[in-house]
Amino acid sequence: MKNSMDCKIIFLGTAGSNATYQQLRSAGGMVLKFDDKQFHIDPGPGALSSAREASVNLRETDAIFATHNHLNHYNDVNAVINAMTYAGLDKAGTLIFSKSLSEARFFKDFLNEFSSLGPQQSKDFDEVTVRTLRTKHSDESAIGLKFTTPDLTITYTSDTGYSKDILSDYKNSDILILNNVHPAKTKKDSNNLSTEDSIKILKVVKPSLAIIQHYGSKMYEANPLYEARNIQKETDIQTIAAKDGLMINPLSKSVSLRQKSLSQY
Ligand SMILES: [Zn+2]
Repeated sequence: MKNSMDCKIIFLGTAGSNATYQQLRSAGGMVLKFDDKQFHIDPGPGALSSAREASVNLRETDAIFATHNHLNHYNDVNAVINAMTYAGLDKAGTLIFSKSLSEARFFKDFLNEFSSLGPQQSKDFDEVTVRTLRTKHSDESAIGLKFTTPDLTITYTSDTGYSKDILSDYKNSDILILNNVHPAKTKKDSNNLSTEDSIKILKVVKPSLAIIQHYGSKMYEANPLYEARNIQKETDIQTIAAKDGLMINPLSKSVSLRQKSLSQY
């Protein structure tokens, strides 16, 4: 029997929105590894130092995804390109970005391939198929991402408000990663998810595991751990609150944290 693939989700930085610029946490994005394929999603400020802390070798990156034109999602794209290509000495890797980043001055000459994608398009990386998803965000060309492999499907909402129309894009996900910017009982923000929005989404999509991340400052005040517990209580879906340095190995059901403190957000 074939062994299942080695899969890792590594959260380099979990700050979203204003928390990024208040320097509450890193906004280095996340890294997905499927066997020898390594993807870096939304490398915002702090990507390199956070990758070092999490023992992620950015030289091994196969593709970078910048889901939209907000600084905390793309600021460190060129830094990661430099790390991936040895500052252009090795032409390597792929960069995928939203239409809104078409004019951004990325180091495209260093790459094997680059392209901007709208929602509901697909791109294959051997056994991994990446599909771009719709969003409802202030950058209207923002894209979510769905990684489908023979063993599991991981979906990332990116920044989006709640929209009933988009729910079908999330269907058939084993793991759903939600950019839950706001805690419960906060002012309505139609461009970003709150805890109530995540609950509504999860009740329909029903993944095996939900992970919340990309927190605004109010979310840190509320404590992401409590918000995750509430989501789990309301939905009966196992919910993890990501924090900087969290590594999840979903196929071996192990969760490890490279950082020292488990209790403090
Ligand atoms: Zn955004």
